[in-house]
Order: sequence, then C-alpha cells, then structure tokens
Amino acid sequence: MEPEQATPRAVPAHELRIVGGNAALDLCNSRSGPHDGGTDIDSLTEAVHIVPWAVHAGVISAGEADELGRGGASSSDADATDLDALVRLREQAHAVFAALAAGADPDPEAMDELRRAETDAAGRARQVRVEDHYEYSWPASSRAVVRDRVAHAAAELLRDGPLSRVKQCAGCSFLFLDESKNGSRRWCSMEDCGREAKMRLYVERRRARSAA
Ligand SMILES: [Zn+2]
Repeated sequence: MEPEQATPRAVPAHELRIVGGNAALDLCNSRSGPHDGGTDIDSLTEAVHIVPWAVHAGVISAGEADELGRGGASSSDADATDLDALVRLREQAHAVFAALAAGADPDPEAMDELRRAETDAAGRARQVRVEDHYEYSWPASSRAVVRDRVAHAAAELLRDGPLSRVKQCAGCSFLFLDESKNGSRRWCSMEDCGREAKMRLYVERRRARSAA
C-alpha cells in the first residue's frame, strides 16, 4: 500500500502571511510545505474559504466581498467548480513561478494553462478608462472575479516581469517578489524567516567557536 499523504492543516486565511507582492504569488502561498514536497498548510480547502482569502490578500475589498455574498444564486455545485478552478490556477501558477524562482524554464503546459486562464478572464472583463488608457476590470458581481483578477496578475507578471525578482523563501518556501534595492533578498520577510535564519547561523557559529 502507498504511504498515505498527510492531510494538510487547514489554516484560516486571516492567519496567512501575505508577503508575495503579487496576487498570483500570494495565491501560491495559500498552500505551503517544506522544500522537499508535501503540504503542511492549506487555506483554500473549501469554497467558503475563497472570499476570506481574497479579502485578506487584497484581491477584493471588504465591500466587494459583501457584494459577492449578495450575488445569491450560489449552489454547492457552482461553489465546488469555483474552488476547483482556483486551486487549479494555484497549481499552474506555482509550477510556473517556482520554476522561474529556481532559474529553470517553466513547464510549457502550465504556461499554456495560465495563458488560457487569462484569456477566459479577459472574456469576462470590462474595459475601464484610467486617465490616458483603458484597463481591464472585473466587477465583484462576477462569480469568477477572484480567479480572474489573480489570473490577470499572473499574466502581467509573466509579460512585464521582473521575473528575475521572483524568489522562493529559503526558510518557508513562500514565493515572493524581491523588491529590495539590490535584489538579494533570500527570505520572504526579515521579521519571520530572515530573523530565524540569522539566529540559526549565530548559534551555529557560536557552537563552532566553542568547539574550536
Ligand atoms: Zn519565509
């Protein structure tokens, strides 16, 4: 018998650290685990988790969340489809951006799926005049608003970069956009993983010195 995969711990969205710097990377980080595979935590295991996650990650506003809630015509089938589509988008985005963070070429199939997700999103978009140009906009009345905005964020990052700044935290494996001046950040955030890593290094050095 195959060893059973441990069920990931469901972590409420509001406990998630939002450090990706891009909605698509934050979606990837809604599930995480050690570098060597497996999943420790997952904040998107049920359809009812989608809206709280999206608000917490800044994909939709609290007001838009109310509007989505009032959208009414929700059925458990439609909910399951929404969750499946978002989780699928997360898998593809993770495959692509984790590869890019490792300096590798992403899987062409995952790239294709991300492109298709954006094409679907564009089909549902409205065009809104912003100063001197038009931008896509997704109304909160659309059931697909969360995944459409995330798919667009992923596509924009792929098209415009900076892909050399997409990194995977050396501590917690989260994906993030390195916005430091010299692009040398190794940790998602200095307060969390960075401090821990420095502390570990300090303890190791002390131990090495006292052993010498
Ligand atoms: Zn980290």
